[in-house]
Amino acid sequence: GAKAIGKNNYHYYTKSMRDAALKRMTLIADLRHAIDNDEFYIVYQPIINLHDQSITKAEALIRWRHPTRGLVGPDDFIPVAEETGLIIDISDWVFERVCRDVCLWRKTLCPTLQISINTSPTHYTDPERCITLWLEKMLINRTPPQAVLLEITESLLMDANKSISTKLFQFRQAGVDIALDDFGTGYSSISYLKRYPTDFLKIDKSFVHSMTEVSNDKVLCEAIIVMAKKLGIKVVAEGIETQEQYHILQSMGCDYGQGYLFAKPLEHQAFNALLEQQKAT
Ligand code: C2E
Ligand code: MG
Ligand code: MG
Ligand code: MG
Repeated sequence: GAKAIGKNNYHYYTKSMRDAALKRMTLIADLRHAIDNDEFYIVYQPIINLHDQSITKAEALIRWRHPTRGLVGPDDFIPVAEETGLIIDISDWVFERVCRDVCLWRKTLCPTLQISINTSPTHYTDPERCITLWLEKMLINRTPPQAVLLEITESLLMDANKSISTKLFQFRQAGVDIALDDFGTGYSSISYLKRYPTDFLKIDKSFVHSMTEVSNDKVLCEAIIVMAKKLGIKVVAEGIETQEQYHILQSMGCDYGQGYLFAKPLEHQAFNALLEQQKAT
């Protein structure tokens, strides 16, 4: 009868919930040891200047080499890291590693290299270990402000408070560029451009992909580029995979491109080799 079915559903429900909870707890426990066990590494995805094809920018993207599960992508652990606060230590690690790498590359292979770092809301709201520490670290380690760029998302600005804009303003005043990531996927993006200091705007890959199929998206893409130009903001198109997307964006006056068509995110050695090759030619 109805009672029995209800009971079965209940059992089924609790089991899957228990499995999910267990999986999550294991992930959190593993994440806690990942830094000490040296399981994280950074890949660098080149950002191409669409006006002269030069590469003086790249985005740092974290990777987790899990001892038993293999490679775990950031989408599978960054959200959990954010919920648990582990993101603070992870991002500090990313920041330090990027500063070290970019300083060396600027000295040896590419004096104007700039590496962008993804940041999380917690960084701007945690009163104890706030992002202001990064500015101090940059001063101590003599990392030029032009060497790094901070990527922020609209979700960060959505629950924006005064402390976030104050911190962003501090960074900008120190000479660190700010980019608005995944532009076009959130809400009321345009008002953020007015309220927050932004040097770069990254058009989300979903936009770039639909551009060749949905003519409205193409129009919107072009409008975003024109608007950004008038506001003095540089545009980066994310997720360029085809020659067609590349040529359309180039003809629209888009400044930079990032995507598999040019290069996948590269491990340290491979990115180093690419900079060497560029320097030689
Ligand atoms: P994102 O910042 O928007 O990064 C771009 C993502 O698009 C990367 O995924 C990149 O590998 C992928 N991508 C690049 N070119 C193409 C393309 O042509 N086609 C397609 N389909 N995808 C492309 P990834 O590395 O898996 O990172 C996912 C997200 O995880 C990032 O999105 C970012 O929000 C977050 N993330 C990555 N590294 C970090 C980090 O160090 N700290 C924080 N807080 N978040 C990070
Ligand atoms: Mg990003
Ligand atoms: Mg993005
Ligand atoms: Mg993102």
